[in-house]
Amino acid sequence: MTVSKATTNDQQNSAPEPVIIPRPDHPISRKKIAHNAIKILYRLKNSGFTAYLAGGAVRDILLGQTPADFDIVTDANPKQLKRLFRNSRIIGRRFRLVHIFFYGHNRSKPQIFETATFRRPFTLEQDDAEHIKEQPELANNLFGSPAEDAGRRDFTVNALFYNIADFSVIDYVDGLRDLEDRIIRIIGDPDTRFAEDPVRILRALEFACRLNFTIDEETGKGLKAQAPALANVPASRLREELRGLYTKKTTAALLTLGDHYQINHHWLPEEIAVNTAEAIPIIQQVENFFPLHDNDNELEKMTVMALILPGILKEYPLADEIRLNLVQDKVEEWLKPISQRLSLPRFQRHAIKDIFSLLYRLGRGDKRIKQLLSRENFFAALFFYAVTTRTTTPQPAHFSFWSQQTERLNRNPGARKLDYGRLFGKPEKKKTSSPDKSQTEKPAREQK
Ligand code: ATP
Ligand code: MG
Repeated sequence: MTVSKATTNDQQNSAPEPVIIPRPDHPISRKKIAHNAIKILYRLKNSGFTAYLAGGAVRDILLGQTPADFDIVTDANPKQLKRLFRNSRIIGRRFRLVHIFFYGHNRSKPQIFETATFRRPFTLEQDDAEHIKEQPELANNLFGSPAEDAGRRDFTVNALFYNIADFSVIDYVDGLRDLEDRIIRIIGDPDTRFAEDPVRILRALEFACRLNFTIDEETGKGLKAQAPALANVPASRLREELRGLYTKKTTAALLTLGDHYQINHHWLPEEIAVNTAEAIPIIQQVENFFPLHDNDNELEKMTVMALILPGILKEYPLADEIRLNLVQDKVEEWLKPISQRLSLPRFQRHAIKDIFSLLYRLGRGDKRIKQLLSRENFFAALFFYAVTTRTTTPQPAHFSFWSQQTERLNRNPGARKLDYGRLFGKPEKKKTSSPDKSQTEKPAREQK
């Protein structure tokens, strides 16, 4: 695909002309778009509306990847959308989005397509929110043109549109150039845009890791400068963003990049941020060991556990004589700030405490295998036991006991057909001169 700017943007003009790439010059074919998304786009177009595929789907198809979901933007307003699609629901108070549902043969889990009306950028987010609470009809004032909608998005590569009317790609922000150069660049002034919504700071790191892109220099400076504002992001929003990360298995990479920019302490509790260097390899092993379809609750629990683990192990190494009640108090103390920061629900806190208690039982040499196997979190504990003890020298005596049980463990449904043999197996020795690194996985940025 060749990208050339057909029209230059007039600096004075508030509605910039987009670059339009006609169908023969880009690789997006309708075959690569979910059938039901195509149906929505066509119904909108046939009813006289503008309808674009937007966001990550356009980016991912252009990169030759399979999109996670298909977001649609249109000039139809939410009420019109609701009328056009009986299988839909208006969600959100401020930016009212419409979710359009499709049920397949399996009625339990619908396919959901987020369909939004073109929006203008917002300033004074809080004021807008307050006004709209009082006068919901004001939400309509937030709707805008396609150019404005592109401009309010986060990164240039996330602001491309695919137009169902002529199958062209529309680029208002030089996103295609950045896609070719593999660059994450925030749209507009970095300081303003990151201050406006500090979650974009984490999103910049996330996309850089996931796509293996470089963060543009100015964008990098802006995110570093604005990082203290991450402390003000509501816990629920932070948790939502991170849960998306867990299933995409980019948490280790994100933390690595966060360490590089020295910003992790702005969004993680200080005592956890100082231990990320030890936590990252453990999280990386969580990501490598559990299958991709693992649900976000499972991965959230394992990731938060891995974040706390190094600090606790420093104070209480796994050993025969350890006093469980002291460890429990410590876990409680460490869990509190991270739970608050991430709005971690009670069932996750309980599960993490349970994993810790089982882990230290294993460390003390508890081998009552039948009893242990009946505990829901046993396999999670065994995982952490294996990854934290397999590289220690001398290896604890109990390690060899558990490594010999893998066949028996694998017969238990809780083992979820995971390869516990691999977990207990000695890490492969690399043929390099630095044996210490034999256990370290690839650096996070280079993972994909
Ligand atoms: P994926 O779904 O693969 O994780 P995505 O790019 O589709 O990636 P979403 O979180 O689904 O990301 O968001 C959809 C689109 O909405 C983004 O591509 C971006 O254009 C816009 N967007 C999302 N969050 C923000 C934000 N905080 N600020 C500005 N625009 C955003
Ligand atoms: Mg998306």
